Amino acid sequence: MRIGILGAGQLGRMLAQAGIPLGHSFYFYDTQITSTVAGLGESVVGSFDDRSALKAFAQRCDVVTYEFENVPCESAHFIESFAPIFPPPRALEVSQDRLLEKQFLQGLGVATPRFRGVCSEAELREACDALGLPCIAKTRRFGYDGKGQARIETTSDIAGAWSSLRGAPLIVEGFVPFSRELSIIATRDKGGEVSVFPLCCNTHINGILHRSELPASDVSHDLKAAARALIVRIMNELDYIGTLAIELFEVRGEILVNEMAPRVHNSGHATIDCMKSSQFENHIRAITGMPLGCVEPQSRAVMFNIIGSVPSLNDLATLPNARVNLYGKDPRPGRKLGHITLLNPSKAEEDMVDEITRKRQ
Ligand code: AMP
Repeated sequence: MRIGILGAGQLGRMLAQAGIPLGHSFYFYDTQITSTVAGLGESVVGSFDDRSALKAFAQRCDVVTYEFENVPCESAHFIESFAPIFPPPRALEVSQDRLLEKQFLQGLGVATPRFRGVCSEAELREACDALGLPCIAKTRRFGYDGKGQARIETTSDIAGAWSSLRGAPLIVEGFVPFSRELSIIATRDKGGEVSVFPLCCNTHINGILHRSELPASDVSHDLKAAARALIVRIMNELDYIGTLAIELFEVRGEILVNEMAPRVHNSGHATIDCMKSSQFENHIRAITGMPLGCVEPQSRAVMFNIIGSVPSLNDLATLPNARVNLYGKDPRPGRKLGHITLLNPSKAEEDMVDEITRKRQ
């Protein structure tokens, strides 16, 4: 099939790398095309609200998907008139707005941090009063990697938080004293079958994912079952097709949903090397109508993001269990340039790669 991807970043690259061996070809659409998807298919430049460019793109695709969640919902619905688009646009609607997302989850009986919608500084004060401090104010839309957020410790932080977020509509959340951050990733096919990957345990630096361990260690049977049940419930409710990721907080043995991403996810990159079928391959399988592949881990894996600049590959070449994956992007501070996955690593190997990747950011 000819698969159209809205977005031409590293997630699009890894989707194509998974789909080409299955006989598919790829067509990328983005506001600019970089070397990240070079050699993996055709590409076209256009804005995400240019209807004639979107129509010409969609008419040349058998199926369209997206690799980032800020594709305008109207554009996703527009594309539907010319080609099927998966995951369904409703998943975009729900996940683009943090307030709608939390209300949607609440409606399904899924536990989240306590929250309030806020449209003015006065409402922000009321929300802080109601939720208690500390709390976190987040812009409802366009936040990622910790951007568009302000932590409010005392009432004297409120005015500064309001102005730093520039008067945008906000969601305010009670601060969750989590013991760790987890994520759960699953894929649902056209027949409603769901394949759930094991939970990942994630560590962030400055709001950006640094390390992800798969499967997460020391997860109780109950917690695994709860995470599995919640992602299946959400996918069924959305009639989801494709891969979905849900970020979780573990607190006192329970899980709360932080946010969801209607796409493949950074915390699942290790699935490329430690699973028979990765999150990318299963996404491609789902949207093209194939049965899903096996998601039993073949080994424990720890992934580290390469951010800002690329370390010497010779330093890593001595590690037999390291798989390096670079995205073909120009170095820039804070930019995700690639990742390293360690399969069944020793503590010493993990510490070495942790240090190499940590100090480059
Ligand atoms: P987000 O962009 O919502 O994923 O938030 C970025 C990071 O901020 C998360 O990975 C958490 O480490 C932290 N964070 C977000 N929301 C909360 C919360 N309600 N309580 C505690 N920490 C949070």
